[in-house]
Amino acid sequence: MKTVVILVDGMRPDGLMDIPYAKTMSEMASFTMNASTVYPSVTLPCHMSLFHSVDPSRHGVTTNTYTPQVRPVKGLCEVLNDNGKSCAFFYNWEELRDLSRPGSLIKSYYVSERKLGFEEANRLVTDAAITSLTEDDPDFIFLYLGWPDHAGHWHGWMGEEYFHSVRRSWDEIERFMGELAKKNEEYTVFITADHGGHDRGHGADIPEDMIIPLYILGKDFEAGKNIEDANIMDIAPTVTKLFDITPPAEWEGKSLI
Ligand SMILES: [Zn+2]
Repeated sequence: MKTVVILVDGMRPDGLMDIPYAKTMSEMASFTMNASTVYPSVTLPCHMSLFHSVDPSRHGVTTNTYTPQVRPVKGLCEVLNDNGKSCAFFYNWEELRDLSRPGSLIKSYYVSERKLGFEEANRLVTDAAITSLTEDDPDFIFLYLGWPDHAGHWHGWMGEEYFHSVRRSWDEIERFMGELAKKNEEYTVFITADHGGHDRGHGADIPEDMIIPLYILGKDFEAGKNIEDANIMDIAPTVTKLFDITPPAEWEGKSLI
């Protein structure tokens, strides 16, 4: 069994049902359109909480500039690495470079959107993750697609450009899932977001920013079933549960199995 977390930055749950592959996913996976992220609903704090299963008040990263934790909590990749599992990251927003500590990844692929644009950068990170399936065969893959957050900040959440970026992100998800299906390996795949957004921003304690979608596709997750009471901090403990690894005592999230 191996796991994949696919995160689409700034993806709000409302409107996803109009995307054919998202609808297909809601029929194949357990899912919720009502999971919570943490406050502040800002990209790096939310990702830190996803990977370290503690609230920002505990990990201490409250802006998009990483600061070392004062009382360090081990993150998902450190825990998996300690238990002999290999982890790989594919991302196109450089601030995420500190989500795992040096030495805990077998591959880290970053490409900047600055010259290429996010459409191409999303395609390249997906290509790299697909190549890694055969080259590295990681036990845990994190695939980050940054375009919708960028579209939201520039053009507004829930506008035409934003929806286009979300639809195209799902095209990349579908392409990746197609390659995953060709492998003779059992996977559990999480598809989620770090936060939502409204107008041209996010970070507030309001439902538009705080509510995120979560799909979990795998043999422990019944097709079409609603996931109750999910929080972004629950993803790491669910991954360790799938690997039958005891999570650190400090982790605040719960396993969704
Ligand atoms: Zn974000």
